[in-house]
Amino acid sequence: MADVERHSYDVVVIGAGGAGLRAVIEARQRGLRVAVVCKSLFGKAHTVMAEGGCAAAMGNANPHDSWQVHFQDTMRGGKFLNNWRMAELHAREAPDRVWELETYGALFDRTPDGRISQRNFGGHTYPRLAHVGDRTGLELIRTMQQKIVSLQQEDHAATGDYDARVRVFAECTVTELLKDAEGRIAGAFGYWRESGRFVLFEAPAVVVATGGIGKSWKVTSNSWEYTGDGHALALRAGAALINMEFVQFHPTGMVWPPSVKGILVTEGVRGDGGVLKNSENERFMFSYIPPVFKGQYAETEEEADRWYTDQENNRRTPDLLPRDEVARAINSEVKAGRGTPHGGVFLDIASRMPAEEIVRRLPSMHHQFKELADVDITAEAMEVGPTCHYVMGGIEVDPETGAASVPGLFAAGECSGGMHGSNRLGGNSLSDLLVFGRRAGLGAADYVQGLGHRPRVAEADVTAAARTALAPFDPAEPATAENPYTLHTGLQQSMQDLVGIIRRADEIARALDVLGALRARIRNVAVEGHRQFNPGWHLALDLRNMLLVSECVARAALLRTESRGGHTRDDHPSMDPNWRRTLLVCRTDGGDESIPDVTVAPEQQVPMRPDLLALFDFEELAKYYTDDELAEHPGRRP
Ligand code: FAD
Repeated sequence: MADVERHSYDVVVIGAGGAGLRAVIEARQRGLRVAVVCKSLFGKAHTVMAEGGCAAAMGNANPHDSWQVHFQDTMRGGKFLNNWRMAELHAREAPDRVWELETYGALFDRTPDGRISQRNFGGHTYPRLAHVGDRTGLELIRTMQQKIVSLQQEDHAATGDYDARVRVFAECTVTELLKDAEGRIAGAFGYWRESGRFVLFEAPAVVVATGGIGKSWKVTSNSWEYTGDGHALALRAGAALINMEFVQFHPTGMVWPPSVKGILVTEGVRGDGGVLKNSENERFMFSYIPPVFKGQYAETEEEADRWYTDQENNRRTPDLLPRDEVARAINSEVKAGRGTPHGGVFLDIASRMPAEEIVRRLPSMHHQFKELADVDITAEAMEVGPTCHYVMGGIEVDPETGAASVPGLFAAGECSGGMHGSNRLGGNSLSDLLVFGRRAGLGAADYVQGLGHRPRVAEADVTAAARTALAPFDPAEPATAENPYTLHTGLQQSMQDLVGIIRRADEIARALDVLGALRARIRNVAVEGHRQFNPGWHLALDLRNMLLVSECVARAALLRTESRGGHTRDDHPSMDPNWRRTLLVCRTDGGDESIPDVTVAPEQQVPMRPDLLALFDFEELAKYYTDDELAEHPGRRP
């Protein structure tokens, strides 16, 4: 039997980003014993990197804002494919979650009269993003960690042990979820990154909050941890993934120098007045307002500029169209030969605002460009282009509780699916983490408290998980063993080239062939050395997750014969109302236990509640819905 360190908890939260920490707080406040496990250092997660802000209809910058308008914007941004109940809960609860953070010690930027300041972002009708300069995510994580420390101090006062009810397991990677004989979650298995020692968490409930999948693409804003682990863990445990074909390419990543290609340039630059220009100095976004948004955006530069100071009487600038639209527009400009020397477009804030104002509002961006590209953004334009940023697809959950279809399994944050439909609006992730992190923590707590008897982990499953983890040290065919870095480069290149921002059936089919070949090669991956901090081994284990998730993306992308949000098919360029009500659901279907086969099947969406549908004009809905779906709409003319 493998040497395994063992722990027993009520709830194990995998991931210490915003969603994970908010779930921890909630489950601990319900009196449960919680472990939080994270692959990197505690406090280092994508949430920390979030710059622009957290969307919540507080109405501080514009009193006309409300949860209903936020809900409408979110559904529009997602091209009406969103799980409408999640979008409703999110819009209703986000303001309370932001306020609650201030009770934990957060301090958001203020309006002159002392209310939480809110900034403009793409797709949001009103200034809505609560922010702390361009370091909002850092403040979010800092205050949730502070809250956890204060809970641990309470626990110490009560029991003499800081870790009595919440313990952090940092730099510890979970590789497998374990179930009992009844198919319920019984625990999670992983390893300490430094020592390579195995660790088992026995727990009846697991909240997966592992974030994104961006490391399967070559140009990405995502950092090394984002290999789709939670998506793959849940899939292998029997849960379903939805919307996996929808991957967001953020329009503005750095394009130069090559070593930093893909690093994000926050949308806050455009929200605060920055504009996109091509090599002919033209503000090209006016030529890319799609029919579904016609009439909602300014059609002249003069109106767009007036909008920054007078939003009542002017329409917003098309520089702030939803991200999918802007990313495609940039792609087209570069393809048409109007790109910058390094293959992007220009993002100009220097000519639009005094230097000291730029440094005050966007300190991180100023620092990032100075340090990484030797560009002073107060004096010259930035060069930017699309970068793989966010996955809308994820684990299918119950909106109220975050429960996945496997008893005891919960998910929240970027690794869950449904909330953002086919495209996420900027700022809606931080609010999503808070709203659904809390709900998943609560859902897990209720589940555990309602359990008759605790599930037990089978020793054979622990042995099998250890064997799978050790396989790269002992490849089946040593003579033809594969290098994990070579395999990763191959996977990233084919996803970038063949399942990227613009897709075609023949290219996706080629990608699936490459992934099929990689599947066999990953089984024979080999690493050198020992289990003590061995990055090659870590990557070898992450690879099977990246492969599974990439297959889900590619298979779903091939099936969806339309273009919508973060899925653009060159061979099916229009949006098809019949596809709007269809979700593509990925599940495993036999094959190898370690890298099982993936199937994708269509499933019908639950129709939107009539009172929510009535929030939209009939004319707008008619652009997205089939005629029969709108038969009962009150705005329908006889
Ligand atoms: P994350 O914050 O990504 O955390 C995931 C956690 O899971 C980490 O702790 C990681 O170590 C852990 N983990 C992963 N796999 C494992 C494993 N196998 N075992 C153990 N632990 C594991 N959104 C906004 O709303 N506004 C913004 O301004 C904004 N700006 C952004 C800027 C950048 C550069 C990036 C990359 C994203 C930005 N986003 C923004 C998106 C947003 O930050 C993320 O979607 C969000 O933070 C995801 O939060 P999460 O809690 O789901 O996961």
